[in-house]
Amino acid sequence: MDFSRKLMVPPDKTIKLGKFDPADTLAHDNDQKTEAKLEKTIKRLDDLQYLLYAEKKRALLIVLQGMDAAGKDGTIRHVMSGVNPQGCSVTSFKVPNSEELAHDFLWRIHKVVPEKGMIGIFNRSHYEDVLVVRVHNLVPKEVWKARYDEINRFERNLEENDVKILKFFLHISREEQESRFRERLHDPCKKWKFSKADASERKHWDDYVSAYEAVLSRCGTEYAPWFIIPSDHKWFRNLAISRIIVETLEEFDMHFPKSPESS
Ligand code: ADP
Repeated sequence: MDFSRKLMVPPDKTIKLGKFDPADTLAHDNDQKTEAKLEKTIKRLDDLQYLLYAEKKRALLIVLQGMDAAGKDGTIRHVMSGVNPQGCSVTSFKVPNSEELAHDFLWRIHKVVPEKGMIGIFNRSHYEDVLVVRVHNLVPKEVWKARYDEINRFERNLEENDVKILKFFLHISREEQESRFRERLHDPCKKWKFSKADASERKHWDDYVSAYEAVLSRCGTEYAPWFIIPSDHKWFRNLAISRIIVETLEEFDMHFPKSPESS
């Protein structure tokens, strides 16, 4: 199955998230067959990452966004589990500090874009500047409104400089978020992850849905596509994301460079 084609947001399409089922599994079952497929995909990802690293012709940038508890951390843990840590970097974007705020919003992002040969993962990203910033009116409307085009220009520039960008929206239902919050509160190993801010952000669910719909409708481009990943089932989320990464790397048609002696 071609996961990329099935889950990619078509460029210039107006997205209504209500039309996307967060519990969809594209007819997959949570069985041994699927587990074997995931294992095989993760092994393949390791091989392809090695090749990307050896070739050093391109970088891959993976952007993860989603509501609180959508599974950004879990995705990184599972999907990248087989990948050599030397070939990838993970950056988590928090509330900007004073130095970051003194620059344009893309400054802190551009600095950590992966170099050729590397896979870079963004846990949250420049999209926060049209998500949390829009929901909480952290800058005037005309400022965040201009950012969709600025983001598209920035991403096009990266693409023209051999950075392939894949953007994943981890789509969960409100009910699933509530059950994950509850789990966090009751599991001593997960309690640390729950913050009061999570509960207060939940009140803004509908505003976040509108903000995400704008992002998916305006910034889903051919050169930097968005994928809506049904994420109520963690096993399916992991399978879908790892398959899309593998499908993308396979399209690169990479080869090991010749050794200096043989040239
Ligand atoms: P996470 O929820 O990603 O595991 P935190 O609990 O530390 O990690 O949350 C990071 C917080 O930083 C989030 O509330 C997010 O909305 C916020 N944040 C990230 N980027 C920005 C930004 N550009 N402006 C304001 N807040 C931001």
